Amino acid sequence: MILLVDMDAFFASVEQAMHPHLRGRAVIVCGDPDRRGVVTAASYEARPFGVHAGMPLAEAKRLCPKAEYVEGNPRKYVEKSLELLELFLTVTPDVEPFSVDEAFLDLSRMGDRSATPEAAMAIARDIQQRIADEHELGASIGIGPNKLISKMASGVQKPKGLTLLDEEGFRQLFWPQPVQALWGVGEKMAGHLNRLGIVTVGDLGRARPEVLEQAFGIVGPHLREAAWGHDATPVVPYHEGVDPKSMGHEVTLPEDCRDAEFLEGTLLRLSDQVARRLRGEGFGARTITVKLRDHRFHTITRQRALAAPIDDHIAIFEVARALWRANWKGEPLRLLGISASALAARGEGEQTELFERDTRGRALREALDKVRDKLGEAAVVPAGSLTHRREAGHVPFGAMKRKDPGALSREGTASQVKRVARDAAREGTGVTGRGTPRGPGSGTGDAAKRDAGASRGAGARRGPPTPPERGPGGGKT
Ligand SMILES: [Mg+2]
Repeated sequence: MILLVDMDAFFASVEQAMHPHLRGRAVIVCGDPDRRGVVTAASYEARPFGVHAGMPLAEAKRLCPKAEYVEGNPRKYVEKSLELLELFLTVTPDVEPFSVDEAFLDLSRMGDRSATPEAAMAIARDIQQRIADEHELGASIGIGPNKLISKMASGVQKPKGLTLLDEEGFRQLFWPQPVQALWGVGEKMAGHLNRLGIVTVGDLGRARPEVLEQAFGIVGPHLREAAWGHDATPVVPYHEGVDPKSMGHEVTLPEDCRDAEFLEGTLLRLSDQVARRLRGEGFGARTITVKLRDHRFHTITRQRALAAPIDDHIAIFEVARALWRANWKGEPLRLLGISASALAARGEGEQTELFERDTRGRALREALDKVRDKLGEAAVVPAGSLTHRREAGHVPFGAMKRKDPGALSREGTASQVKRVARDAAREGTGVTGRGTPRGPGSGTGDAAKRDAGASRGAGARRGPPTPPERGPGGGKT
């Protein structure tokens, strides 16, 4: 059995947990509350007023003027997220962080203790209770035979829901629903399906495979399987898949995007992920590669070799941004990736620059603030910031080979997560590479359509783990 633990109104709930005077009140987490921007998260008390993530702040203020408007703190949420991962790892070593507030837990290696639906339910209930007791947070948990079903079950009942579905229950519940209820089917694809006469999930399940294949290529048959509740994608534990030759992260954007600011924000986030992994593994990179895939699935990779290894997110970002700027012609992009290669163990060919420790922390804060000002919190800590994925990417609807699970140890996983947590908590004061830290806001792109950015803010927090190319649907927190 697989669980998907989804934190309820995560950012807002963390604020409430940390600031008792906010409990029971409508809390709206945003960027700087005095500037225009979007709602990053709304507590459940704010939702009856119609406030939701992604909504322009001005509108939220009209709907719910008495709410507490709280400037979000991405670092705090990442730290909390890592604490939760540690909790999950005491249950099973097979934990895959899916977004900053969601994680998959594969219980199958727990043997008899999780073999029946009842046993899995009891484990889920216990996790929910521990999250409440130890962190004063609410979570909703979906339980199912695979990732697809557990993910979709997690949204059935919120907040504090516990939903168990088998394949049959899944079909009963979702077949009558519009096809975009299916995880992975976005608005665009739903439109495409509708034009083929496929309106509900059930229609998709009954559709002729050839028709789907003709319309969507290899994704087509997987879509149909998904409608049946079939999904062979394994839970890929956090620490798996580290290739010592390169380390990369990529993200499929929630929708095709040509908003330069948003894309730069995404590059910054990817840089941070890559940098963190480099430091966690004790490497610096001499080559940085960016990967761009446009809306027509045309993919390019461009790389730059560096004189000395770097492991600093600002340095990586500057190289990645330069490559991106030199190669992006303004076409809508669906995927961005950054990888680091030509790795050198820390210490080789690297000078220790002590005085940079201070400036680096400042540069990080400035960088985060600048992006946050423009895009809201969601741009800085969107989904997948914690998601550790292999170069190959995550393929929800396709089978992916996984490594020998026997090679894992709970201790190893836990210590890895702790290390990453420490890294995050250190606020970027660790050893730096040779890059001169400079805020990335020094010259952001010019495009940036505000209206497009608004709804994307919310979407961006969703997990990008996408199948052969699609953003996951849904939009709750
Ligand atoms: Mg959530």
